[in-house]
Amino acid sequence: MELEKYSMGIGDRFARQGKAQLQALIRAKDDGMDVVPVWNKSHREHMIIGTSPSDVRREADGAVEALGWKSPYHVDADHIGLKNVDLFIEASDFYTLDVADLIGEAADAAQVQAFVDRHARYVGALEIAGIDEPLEVTRERMEAIAARYLLGVQEAGRIYRHIEAKKGKGKFITEVSMDETQAPQTPLEMFFILAAIADEGIPAQTIAPKFTGRFNKGVDYQGDVDQFAREFDEDLAVIRFAVAEFGLPANLKLSVHSGSDKFSIYGPINRSIRKYDAGLHLKTAGTTWLEELIGLAEAGGTGLDIAREVYKISLGRFDELCGPYATVIDIDKNRLPLVNEVESWSGEEYAAALRHDQDCAQYNPHFRQLLHVAYKVAAEMGERFLGALEENEEIIARNVLENVYVRHLKRIFA
Ligand SMILES: [Zn+2]
Repeated sequence: MELEKYSMGIGDRFARQGKAQLQALIRAKDDGMDVVPVWNKSHREHMIIGTSPSDVRREADGAVEALGWKSPYHVDADHIGLKNVDLFIEASDFYTLDVADLIGEAADAAQVQAFVDRHARYVGALEIAGIDEPLEVTRERMEAIAARYLLGVQEAGRIYRHIEAKKGKGKFITEVSMDETQAPQTPLEMFFILAAIADEGIPAQTIAPKFTGRFNKGVDYQGDVDQFAREFDEDLAVIRFAVAEFGLPANLKLSVHSGSDKFSIYGPINRSIRKYDAGLHLKTAGTTWLEELIGLAEAGGTGLDIAREVYKISLGRFDELCGPYATVIDIDKNRLPLVNEVESWSGEEYAAALRHDQDCAQYNPHFRQLLHVAYKVAAEMGERFLGALEENEEIIARNVLENVYVRHLKRIFA
């Protein structure tokens, strides 16, 4: 099974907006952008919301059937490990092997030496087409990289072989993710990580590094855009080179996690993938739920009541909700609106504060980030929330479609 050149991960917390999301990809296709949808959901999300992998499969199949989508589509077991992968064997055909926990744990010294010996031919000035200066490779640098990443890649190998034994070789897509870690990976590290992935025999089709800068949930990129652009470009050069050197799958491409709303880097990403004629997987999650809130607010009545209540409860449970996401949000509590202020807002005012429109004076990224991590509050409302989604399906779908199509697909793939 081969992943198409351009793909977009479209997470959907409550599994209700599959059709609206797919509608956005259909519109993109009509405009000449061939991007395939990948419905992704992690074990953690399933646990918090009380869904199972088969719900995502049902959502994806249902949307595809209802809209007559004829191109491929996939269901991604996002950020899984050996302890939960079995839950995803039936429903998924795309596996994101998460090995971030093992990064930095020192690998066995003999294995580090064996790795360095195996790849000793790269010691010296390593020239890679597309990168201006040769990369300086010494045995010491290779040892440091191997010591830092080898255990993680070996674990990815174990997860991969576990899935392969159950699903069969070539029957699924493999992604290796290292984004949920503190330090970004440099292009040279990426090169030797790919060497290790090839050594393990993992046919990775996408790799998700941690890039420089902050990828906060649901808001724009925070960091040095020029540095990001340079490293992203060099990563593409490294991948092209590594595919040829190590015999990795020819369609191996970068996967950008927490990719929603990173408007200021979409331009550089677009330019680089065109320059290299490279593929891209843009993984988003969690912002479709914000479009649901926006739609509910705009609907007024009980929809607006729910939207206000979610905020009120979230503010009261700030530490509990934000704690697990501390490294991927930056909320200034002093910039959050007061509860009674929000109570007085019209549906339009609520929507304007939440919608990611950087030209809108009412847009409040602090409000947005808090609500992004507050989906647990809506999950606890149960039928009251899900019923409101159903009642206001049309207005919500309009917002979901606009978000995926106008603010994402058109900016990255056009
Ligand atoms: Zn990730």
